[in-house]
Amino acid sequence: MDDAEYEEFISSVTPIESADGIDSYRNTVAMACPACDEPFDDAVVCTDEYNSLELSLELDLCVTTHEGDAVIFTHKP
Ligand SMILES: [Zn+2]
Repeated sequence: MDDAEYEEFISSVTPIESADGIDSYRNTVAMACPACDEPFDDAVVCTDEYNSLELSLELDLCVTTHEGDAVIFTHKP
Protein backbone atom coordinates (compact mmCIF):
# COMPACT_ATOMS: atom_id res chain seq x y z
CA MET A 1 0.00 0.00 0.00
CA ASP A 2 1.23 3.49 -0.69
CA ASP A 3 1.85 6.17 1.95
CA ALA A 4 -1.54 7.84 1.50
CA GLU A 5 -3.37 4.53 1.94
CA TYR A 6 -1.23 3.64 4.95
CA GLU A 7 -1.85 7.02 6.62
CA GLU A 8 -5.59 6.63 6.10
CA PHE A 9 -5.43 3.09 7.51
CA ILE A 10 -3.43 4.08 10.61
CA SER A 11 -5.61 7.10 11.32
CA SER A 12 -8.80 5.00 11.04
CA VAL A 13 -8.03 1.91 13.14
CA THR A 14 -7.65 1.68 16.94
CA PRO A 15 -4.29 0.53 18.37
CA ILE A 16 -4.61 -2.55 20.61
CA GLU A 17 -1.04 -3.44 21.49
CA SER A 18 2.51 -3.18 20.32
CA ALA A 19 4.96 -5.93 21.27
CA ASP A 20 7.75 -8.05 19.78
CA GLY A 21 7.76 -6.17 16.51
CA ILE A 22 4.03 -6.59 15.97
CA ASP A 23 1.64 -3.67 16.16
CA SER A 24 -2.00 -4.74 16.47
CA TYR A 25 -5.02 -2.65 15.56
CA ARG A 26 -8.77 -3.16 15.76
CA ASN A 27 -11.04 -2.07 12.98
CA THR A 28 -13.69 -0.21 14.96
CA VAL A 29 -14.91 1.78 11.98
CA ALA A 30 -15.73 -1.10 9.59
CA MET A 31 -13.00 0.03 7.23
CA ALA A 32 -12.88 -2.02 4.03
CA CYS A 33 -9.90 -4.32 3.59
CA PRO A 34 -7.79 -2.99 0.73
CA ALA A 35 -7.23 -6.50 -0.57
CA CYS A 36 -10.76 -7.93 -0.64
CA ASP A 37 -13.02 -4.94 0.08
CA GLU A 38 -14.75 -6.71 2.97
CA PRO A 39 -14.43 -5.03 6.39
CA PHE A 40 -11.56 -6.66 8.31
CA ASP A 41 -11.64 -7.42 12.05
CA ASP A 42 -8.08 -6.71 13.14
CA ALA A 43 -4.87 -5.68 11.43
CA VAL A 44 -1.25 -6.27 12.37
CA VAL A 45 1.84 -4.48 11.13
CA CYS A 46 5.07 -6.50 11.41
CA THR A 47 7.92 -4.06 11.99
CA ASP A 48 10.83 -6.45 12.60
CA GLU A 49 12.67 -8.22 9.79
CA TYR A 50 11.26 -11.55 10.97
CA ASN A 51 8.06 -11.94 12.96
CA SER A 52 5.99 -14.87 14.13
CA LEU A 53 2.26 -14.74 14.56
CA GLU A 54 0.46 -17.11 16.89
CA LEU A 55 -3.17 -17.31 15.96
CA SER A 56 -5.68 -18.34 18.59
CA LEU A 57 -8.47 -18.57 16.03
CA GLU A 58 -8.80 -19.86 12.52
CA LEU A 59 -8.75 -16.69 10.45
CA ASP A 60 -8.73 -15.69 6.83
CA LEU A 61 -5.80 -13.37 6.15
CA CYS A 62 -5.22 -10.66 3.57
CA VAL A 63 -1.70 -9.29 3.26
CA THR A 64 0.00 -6.26 1.82
CA THR A 65 3.23 -4.39 2.52
CA HIS A 66 4.17 -0.83 3.38
CA GLU A 67 7.82 0.20 3.11
CA GLY A 68 9.02 -3.34 3.79
CA ASP A 69 6.63 -4.01 6.69
CA ALA A 70 4.05 -6.74 6.27
CA VAL A 71 0.50 -5.51 6.93
CA ILE A 72 -1.96 -8.31 7.63
CA PHE A 73 -5.73 -7.99 7.76
CA THR A 74 -7.73 -10.68 9.56
CA HIS A 75 -11.23 -11.86 8.78
CA LYS A 76 -13.18 -14.32 10.85
CA PRO A 77 -14.44 -16.93 8.38
ZN1 LIG B 1 -9.39 -8.90 3.20
